Amino acid sequence: MNSVYAGLGATIFDVMSRLAAECGAVNLGQGFPEQDGPRDIREAAARAVVENSNQYPPMRGLPELRQAVAAHYNGRQGLDLDWTREVTITSGATEAIAAALLAFIEPGDEVVLFEPLYDAYLPMVRRAGGVPRMVRLEPPHWRLEREKVAAAFSPRTRLVVINTPLNPSASVISREELAMLAELCRAHDAIVLSDEVWEEVLFEGLRFDSMLHVLRERTLKIGSAGKMFSLTGWKVGFACGAPALTEQFVKAHQFLTFTTPPNLQRAVAYGLGKPAAYFEEMCAGFQRSRNRLSAALGGEGFALLPSRGAYFISIDLPASGIAMSDTAFAEHAVKCGVATIPFSAFYAGPGAPNLVRLCFAKSDETLDRGAEALIAAKRSA
Ligand code: GLN
Repeated sequence: MNSVYAGLGATIFDVMSRLAAECGAVNLGQGFPEQDGPRDIREAAARAVVENSNQYPPMRGLPELRQAVAAHYNGRQGLDLDWTREVTITSGATEAIAAALLAFIEPGDEVVLFEPLYDAYLPMVRRAGGVPRMVRLEPPHWRLEREKVAAAFSPRTRLVVINTPLNPSASVISREELAMLAELCRAHDAIVLSDEVWEEVLFEGLRFDSMLHVLRERTLKIGSAGKMFSLTGWKVGFACGAPALTEQFVKAHQFLTFTTPPNLQRAVAYGLGKPAAYFEEMCAGFQRSRNRLSAALGGEGFALLPSRGAYFISIDLPASGIAMSDTAFAEHAVKCGVATIPFSAFYAGPGAPNLVRLCFAKSDETLDRGAEALIAAKRSA
């Protein structure tokens, strides 16, 4: 059996969702919106099943969706993607990340990663033969500091994986930090795999900066329709980057999933036609939910970290007067009626900050019940 997987358990998201169901707890753990995205997009998918072909779409994705992706990124981010040569549709962002790692690195190549990191990255890097070089970001601002980042590079560095907005810290990498990273990548002949799935979930009117803005020829940008349209189960992702990267990328993609359900592709193409106001309203809604949960917890002595993007916010346990480890508190809280995600799940080794992540993409009622359960958990901790 492959040793990378032999040593792994189920992902924390699955574990906490299962515990939430078993305990009848409110689920503020796994990140998904309680309410499905726009009905017209779902209807477009249903119609496409009945009225359009259900046979294999082209390996790189339906032309109409690749065009819509390029047009979307042009309108929203000022990017100039050639849909024929620089856009691939994948079965979710995780597939895109897996395909990129398989396609871009050779066994023994070094891969720079930032902690906290999404739990899928490290096993996939290792399985692809990559040697991880970790850079630890520090709360509360989680900034990329040049000295620490530069120290992780070596002559064997081939790839850097970033995530902005960053899950779980809900921080956003600044244009200056991206530019600093771009300079290091040019100097070391390295490629960036930029997981930008939360690009449309930003608060306080923040503008999104893509790695493609600063390192156009060496970046593969990953996007996600699931996050844009609150349809996380659809698993429709986008991989965008220069032809030289895309050509290599599709060779791995073609033997992983080959393609993605055509009705979902059609519906996402339709959804990408939505005006800017759709995305602004979505963010405003999530921001209201963030503020509601923050207000309910802040008044009860919980110390929360800033949340600038992605629908997550974190509780600083020691600063909240909770003398438990993150995993112990998560186990305790789920018994009190609320599932959370302990931050240590996003670290490769010991020494994770003592935080738990909450997902606030929920109805007011769910948020209020979750807050009540957290207050009860804090009192009995
Ligand atoms: N992206 C989701 C989160 O961060 C989890 C996705 C999954 O469960 N695989 O919670």
